Amino acid sequence: MPMPHTVTLIPGDGTGPEITTATRRVLEATGIEFEWDVRQAGSEMLEKQGTVLPDDVLESIKRTKVGLKGPITTPVGRGQRSANVTLRKKLDLYANLRPAKTYPGLRSRYENIDLVIVRENTEDLYAGIEFQRGTSHQEELLELIERTTGQKLDPHSALSIKYISVLATRRIVRFAFDYARANDRRKVTIVHKANIMRLSDGLFLATAHEVAKEYPDIQHEDRIVDNMCMQLVQKPEMYDVLVLPNLYGDIISDLSAGLIGGLGVAPGANIGSQYAVFEPVHGSAPKYAGQNKVNPMAMMFSGVMMLRHLGEKEAAVRLEKALMQVIAEGKYVTYDLKPRPDDPTAVGTSQVADAVIERLRRL
Ligand code: NAD
Repeated sequence: MPMPHTVTLIPGDGTGPEITTATRRVLEATGIEFEWDVRQAGSEMLEKQGTVLPDDVLESIKRTKVGLKGPITTPVGRGQRSANVTLRKKLDLYANLRPAKTYPGLRSRYENIDLVIVRENTEDLYAGIEFQRGTSHQEELLELIERTTGQKLDPHSALSIKYISVLATRRIVRFAFDYARANDRRKVTIVHKANIMRLSDGLFLATAHEVAKEYPDIQHEDRIVDNMCMQLVQKPEMYDVLVLPNLYGDIISDLSAGLIGGLGVAPGANIGSQYAVFEPVHGSAPKYAGQNKVNPMAMMFSGVMMLRHLGEKEAAVRLEKALMQVIAEGKYVTYDLKPRPDDPTAVGTSQVADAVIERLRRL
């Protein structure tokens, strides 16, 4: 008997627990043995323990090395930092990998999209270096800015620091090229706004071009982020692997999810040198919590990525095929994959899991 894979399972909050149950069921139906270490994070933990990300969640992932995670709500503009950002930072999950691929049956305006977004996950405007208006640190910083640049900024302002380092840029760009090499990809596109942010994005761009020289077998090019958005909408089939700083990566991956048929089918992985956490691109969709309504496929496709990471290639291929068959048939899919969102034939979250398990049994 092969050893079961021990995985930290974080249901999250909002619709997270429902899609997590559905995903766990299909993963178990592949025949691969799992030992789930279920850990709670999210709004409920904030009430019970005063933090959305209790320490035992991090300790568990440090032990198991692999996590599968549902979305966690981040209250806008409140004191608590995002549990998602904290998790990525504390475990140094520096690469956020977000594939966007069209499957027959998805309601997309395009065919043949097969993009992989590689987003830097630890710095940029997401580093959490912010200064509130009216604080002594904000005042000090405004003084420093005036002294060094001559610009007098409005005291009624808040500041967020865009932080880009050579080290983090090097490792994310290497990750993108290594990924391209290992997965028979032909091209890496470096995305930036170095024409305006000449120092921070300029450093990202220059470092990325330097790293690219180590990979003469893979083509590379660069695009300014606004132009990239237009290019992706006009001719997404021209692009392959994209590597981006944190904020552009976040935005472009939602755009790419839209290109392929929506957030309901967009998976993701956060990968570091020691740990990996798999999660859908979408958030907790709290307005649908407890309604057995939202699409669990984005988390199931994240499960496919996890199976590959665990070396279970055959099971990954079978689960992906089962998902493709359910999508192509178009019958047992949630509202977001129907021609109209109010389609009365849409099924619920758990019925999607039933249909995928049914296909898996026949494969
Ligand atoms: P969201 O992704 O939760 O929802 C955006 C839209 O997409 C909504 O209309 C929603 O109904 C729809 N949607 C999302 N997932 C779906 C699914 N599986 N099936 C069908 N439709 C789906 O984004 P939001 O409303 O901006 O964020 C809600 C909360 O989630 C926020 O607190 C945000 O901070 C958090 N969030 C968490 C993560 C994470 O845990 N990694 C990621 C993004 C957002």
